[in-house]
Amino acid sequence: MAGDHRAPSRVLVIGSGIVGMSCAWSLQEHGVEVCVVDRKHPGAGASWQNAGLVAPALSVPLPEPSILRYGVRAVLSPRSPVALVRSADPRLAQFLAAMVRSCTTSAWRRSMGAHRALNMLADEAFAHQRAGGVDLELHEGDVMACFARAHESAGFLQEMAAVVAAGQPVELTLLTADEVRSVEPHVADVVELGVKVRSQRYLTPSRYVAALAKSVRDRGTKIVENTPITSVERHGEVVVARGPSAELEADAAVVAAGAWAGDLLATHGVRVPVYGGRGYSFTVASPRPFVGPLYFPVARVAVTPQGGRARFAGIMEFGAPDATPQRARFGHMVDASRHLLVDIDWSTMADQWMGPRPLSADGVPLVGATATPGIYVAGGHGMWGVTLGPVTGSLLAEQITSGVTPPQLLPLDPLR
Ligand SMILES: Cc1cc2nc3c(=O)[nH]c(=O)nc-3n(C[C@H](O)[C@H](O)[C@H](O)COP(=O)(O)OP(=O)(O)OC[C@H]3O[C@@H](n4cnc5c(N)ncnc54)[C@H](O)[C@@H]3O)c2cc1C
Repeated sequence: MAGDHRAPSRVLVIGSGIVGMSCAWSLQEHGVEVCVVDRKHPGAGASWQNAGLVAPALSVPLPEPSILRYGVRAVLSPRSPVALVRSADPRLAQFLAAMVRSCTTSAWRRSMGAHRALNMLADEAFAHQRAGGVDLELHEGDVMACFARAHESAGFLQEMAAVVAAGQPVELTLLTADEVRSVEPHVADVVELGVKVRSQRYLTPSRYVAALAKSVRDRGTKIVENTPITSVERHGEVVVARGPSAELEADAAVVAAGAWAGDLLATHGVRVPVYGGRGYSFTVASPRPFVGPLYFPVARVAVTPQGGRARFAGIMEFGAPDATPQRARFGHMVDASRHLLVDIDWSTMADQWMGPRPLSADGVPLVGATATPGIYVAGGHGMWGVTLGPVTGSLLAEQITSGVTPPQLLPLDPLR
């Protein structure tokens, strides 16, 4: 334990997504009394019906040079998989300006170093949750990236090479058109090339959220639902979180409020903007189950098996998390995927959902202490909060209880 650090005995976690509940779970491991509060309920944000890939090989920072080219297309085409919600919100302009500054190769490499440190511990953190009683149904599965034109794979293969260059092992196998279809008969014959990303995993996120909530509750934590928090402040020895219907007190607090976190962090010295990268998903019945997850990088759609159905997830729409979902997006995803797959009955579409990915402008999660003693943040995981949730909880709980920042969290310093 560091110097005069006094480990908090009661911690309040604001937000019951995968990241917040993983923090609560790991704090319980250290014997801390935890209370979780949510403006709605567990999984009400991005954690509920995302693609569910636990894929450290694909967990890379979002801002990179090609985003700038995409940005221009997005403005020109409302059907693009990357889009802007038209909005007068000044925070959107501020977020985009900061993100553009991080769209350089050198910034990407720096951010990748931060991702790598977490990615390397991701599997171990899931194993720890399972051993500790979380009813985790994690399926082994290579992720198969599919390309209608072989040359379209160049950007993806370059990115995988950059991940390896950053020191994270990735195992790839290239498949011909026939090999792709012998592995996954749902892939249409327009697909020329497959890239198998080996040894990744996937889960059904809503089931995982429920399992985490159950484990956290079974170990004595109350999850206070339907209770929005509008401010969190330090008053002498205690931290007080207030909202229209509640005032909660603890020795320390973790803000894990996903894409909404910026509102609570503004007064605590956190300058990196956090904003919503709204994604959409739906399921369709698949009479013949999908063998494993598929990823179509050009269409930006992931397909994950979920029991007798398959979940389609995609779209990156920069916009306020509470803005009305644009229902036309589901049709855009079908249009982008239809020619790439066979034997799908699109008329069985159900479970339509929109969730806001908590994007940090520089693509690096924000995990650690804020400028206010006893107030911490865990968020900004963008496209990879399922993969990185458990490791985030584990490292932050170590920091909060010991007063020592684990080396993996240094680049994630929320005050950077
Ligand atoms: C379409 C899509 C596909 C994705 N696919 C993957 C994938 O395959 N693999 C992967 O690793 N990640 C994926 N992600 C990303 C992942 O879903 C997120 O990174 C992750 O869920 C973020 O978790 P979180 O706990 O930080 O935030 P959230 O799940 O958004 O939770 C935040 C919680 O805080 C609560 N809250 C907010 N404000 C307040 C307040 N003021 N007071 C009280 N409570 C508050 C909210 O109600 C919410 O429950 C995907 C996301 C999307 C949208």
